[in-house]
Amino acid sequence: MAKKRTQARKRAGANKKARAQRKSTARKATQAKTRRQRVAGVAALPAKELEQRRARALEIATRLKRLYPDARPELNFSNPLELLVATVLSAQCTDERVNQVTAYLFQKYRTAADYMKAPRQQLEDEIRPTGFYRRKAELIQQMARALVEKFGGEVPRSMEELTQLPGVGRKTANVVLGAAMGIPSGIVVDTHVQRVARRLGLTEQKNPDKIEQDLMQLLPQEEWIGFGMRLILHGRRVCTARKPKCEACALEDLCPKIGVATAKKQTATRPRRR
Ligand code: SF4
Repeated sequence: MAKKRTQARKRAGANKKARAQRKSTARKATQAKTRRQRVAGVAALPAKELEQRRARALEIATRLKRLYPDARPELNFSNPLELLVATVLSAQCTDERVNQVTAYLFQKYRTAADYMKAPRQQLEDEIRPTGFYRRKAELIQQMARALVEKFGGEVPRSMEELTQLPGVGRKTANVVLGAAMGIPSGIVVDTHVQRVARRLGLTEQKNPDKIEQDLMQLLPQEEWIGFGMRLILHGRRVCTARKPKCEACALEDLCPKIGVATAKKQTATRPRRR
């Protein structure tokens, strides 16, 4: 009898060990797959999985369109130059504050040459409320000079040309080309798009350019302009960094909520400010 009990205990122990081994192998395989996708992007997904992800991305785009039908930047502008300047000013600043500053600025400066010729100190004073005003004034004037000298004072209409301007990366270029010119050159990837796209399981990437490449692979070009702007709004209003409102989210049934538990846990353990 005692011998049988010992044998049963040994079998149970062996089974437990085998289960743990299987779990560990599966976990390692998942980690390796995620690493592979991080390197190669969604293009490395098996065809069936890629199709499923594309279908999900399209459904997400459709629902976002219903939620935010008139998505456009919350920065005020009436031409590409104004949007370019407003985008530079919006770094580390709220759109509301930028709009207050540009209400005056855009009345005074109408052309790239106007910005180029302005006394630096004066421009700094005018944009001071947006923060980092010295660097921003320097960038605006460098950008204005490049517009005048290389593009006859006009904002160019291609990604390649726009990204030659000082301080203009793909994000800013996509904002200007998409929102001010209606040219679908790519997808705007800011901090909100980075976070929400990863939570939605649309990309495993961390680098903004790679995230953009993944999203471009998933969606048809006609969706690119609206999708980026809508994901930004969704990130600001619903899928916020610290407390995503999953229970009230229209994408809840499509979302694997990657990393959300960790974000909530960090928020819960973060000491309160007094
Ligand atoms: S379900 Fe939650 S994590 Fe997913 S998009 Fe909505 S708010 Fe974000």
